[in-house]
Amino acid sequence: MLSVTGSLSVYFTCDCSRRERIQFMVLKNDIDPHLQEELLELALTLEQHPELAYEEEFTVSQWTCFSKRHKLPITYGLHGKAPMISLGEFDRARCKIVMTADLDAVKLSENGPVGHFCGHHAQSIHALGLAAMLLENEFDFKDLAIRMIGCPAEECRPAYDSNCALPFIPGKKRLLEEGWFDGATAVLSTHLDDDVTAHQVHLSKGTHGAIWLRAHWMTDVLTSFGSMYPISSRSDTLLAAYRKELGLYIHAVKTQDKQRYLDIWIETNGQNDQLTKMSIIRLQQITVQCLQVNVELVTHYEPLRQEKKLLEQAKYVLRTWDQSVTVKETDCLQGATDLGEVSALFPTLQIFVGGTKGMTHEHSFRVVDPLFSYIWPIIFVQKLIINLLQ
Ligand SMILES: [Zn+2]
Repeated sequence: MLSVTGSLSVYFTCDCSRRERIQFMVLKNDIDPHLQEELLELALTLEQHPELAYEEEFTVSQWTCFSKRHKLPITYGLHGKAPMISLGEFDRARCKIVMTADLDAVKLSENGPVGHFCGHHAQSIHALGLAAMLLENEFDFKDLAIRMIGCPAEECRPAYDSNCALPFIPGKKRLLEEGWFDGATAVLSTHLDDDVTAHQVHLSKGTHGAIWLRAHWMTDVLTSFGSMYPISSRSDTLLAAYRKELGLYIHAVKTQDKQRYLDIWIETNGQNDQLTKMSIIRLQQITVQCLQVNVELVTHYEPLRQEKKLLEQAKYVLRTWDQSVTVKETDCLQGATDLGEVSALFPTLQIFVGGTKGMTHEHSFRVVDPLFSYIWPIIFVQKLIINLLQ
């Protein structure tokens, strides 16, 4: 079906406006050069048009244009906000795969810059590239059905938009409610990794979960609380109070002072998170008791639990197909994702891909190895799917 080529260097002319000649090492590259060029161009276009949660119109239009160009069947969920490309018959296929791609960018603070500071634009490239490649290669869809979903609003909008209604409902929660994951035998996803210029794939067993609360200040309360607990010890005070009741489910607490409120990020222990709705209400009550102010729930993220079998399959593909890529394995990643709730219901795997510089959610974050960050994951996911079918 697909040839596996050896090491080769490729000279690629990037965006026509830049006309730079860059030499990349492509270790295992068997994607059509025209498609590759188109995808790299699209990556730049999406990177230059970052859009915030639930405003991803341009990005959706790019999905539509790409689908028309490649004769890919496209439909939309969430009233047009979630583009979907489906190949094969989802109701009948033995192997039903959903691949997610986050559409939104992030704003670093209320007045801060907007950008794809954790590389979500790359996820669109991976999903669209895979769809086009499967169709181009005349993949046999007898046993396989795959649905690529462009997911709006992975980033928590209230982080940079104080007018956003609370609690915030992330994109995948809404997609779950509309039933777009129903019946999936595997949910696959990609994400760019933090500051790894090397050809590396990071396989983590999961991420922490999080409960995000917002305490609304009144000026005199802020002053009295501020004098009681200096900023440096606020998070420690809250952490001690939460742990007293919920013990080691609570991993860490971070607070961030805003003008009119205090944001409290409660990170929960990934693999042991058994927090129920009741315990979330308790966390709110404890916060009210501690701070003597009004407390709202901003959002709740369940921990991401990667499915063991999928992790093993991914490792197998890397071992047998492309040994030049380093595999980093860890138990738990800090931070949270709206893929956590999906992973509680369906076997899920998100791989973290290198080729980047700078930490995610920082202004300096960028892709430095476009062929590895944008193109390599497409071929990898295709290999993984072929493996899952066997
Ligand atoms: Zn992200």
